Parts: sequence; structure tokens; C-alpha cells
Amino acid sequence: MSSEMEPLEAVRELLRYVGDDPTREGLRETPARHLKFLREFSSPQEFTWTTFQNEGGDDMIVQTGIPFYSLCEHHLAPFFGTACVAYIPEGRIVGLSKLARAVDYYSRRLQNQERITYEVAEAIQRELAPTGVAVVMKARHLCMEMRGVRKAGCETTTSRMSGAFFDNGRCRAEFLKLIES
Ligand code: ZN
Repeated sequence: MSSEMEPLEAVRELLRYVGDDPTREGLRETPARHLKFLREFSSPQEFTWTTFQNEGGDDMIVQTGIPFYSLCEHHLAPFFGTACVAYIPEGRIVGLSKLARAVDYYSRRLQNQERITYEVAEAIQRELAPTGVAVVMKARHLCMEMRGVRKAGCETTTSRMSGAFFDNGRCRAEFLKLIES
């Protein structure tokens, strides 16, 4: 017996739970497709934080508009949006693609938005030991929109600022101005 038997039957049971017939044509392959979807979602690409000696100054490095997709741990409904990530290097820097990879990596599991924001910031702090880290995430949560609790299109914003972004008002203001739009 395949180890997939149990989850497959569980999804069929869910289909019955919502009042449908898992044996009808349109749903016959749905349990297998759903499990594949969940597996792909929860298998982000592993990556290494290849760092480089910073040869520039201590200027802010900002990456905006990083798309992310996640599933909320409370309802298993999607939430999705964009992240802005910034840091002020101390000694080490990374390629910009790593910031997007970090957002993807922490999004692709059962999550809440606050925790992704925190985990991305912590990872950058741990790997680069920069002077400051800032992460701002804006997302739409389908668990809120589909149940009509809040207006459709309503965005939730979470942010995490540490080091210079937390202590230095001028630094924070510059960051917030750069991510405006
Ligand atoms: Zn939710």
C-alpha cells in the first residue's frame, strides 16, 4: 500500500464534507492533485546565503516588490502579497536574489504573516549581522475576504525593524520613503 493512501482518502473525505461526490468525473483526480499542490507549496527551493565582503559604504540595500504566496495556519486559506526587505551592511552583503529567496523560503509552509516577517528579518540578521534590518509585508488574506469579514482587497501590513531602522528615525524615514508606492 502506498503511503499516499491515507491522505488521499482524507481529501476524498473533505470533498464529501463539503457536500460533493468524490467519484464524479471532475473530482476523481482532485485528491491526488491537491496533495501534489500541497507538496510543491511546502517544498521551497533550498538555498545558501553566499555572502561577499562589502566593498561599498554603509548604504541601505533595499529590495521592493518581492511577491510571496502562503497558506494561513488558521484556515489553510491563501494569503499573498509583496515584501520589501532592506538592510544596512556591516561587513557582509548577499546577492539581491537571496532576499527574495528568503521571503519565498519562509512563506512556503503553514504560516502567519507576522511570523514570516519576523523569520525573514531574523535570517538576515543571523547571516549578515548588518547594522539594521527592515522587513515590510503587505498581503491579502482570503480567509478574511472570502468569508466577508472584511472588505475585499483590504491589505494587512506587518513590519519588523531592528538596529538602525529601529533606533534612527532618519534611517527609518528614508526606508519608508523608498518603499512608498
Ligand atoms: Zn486565516
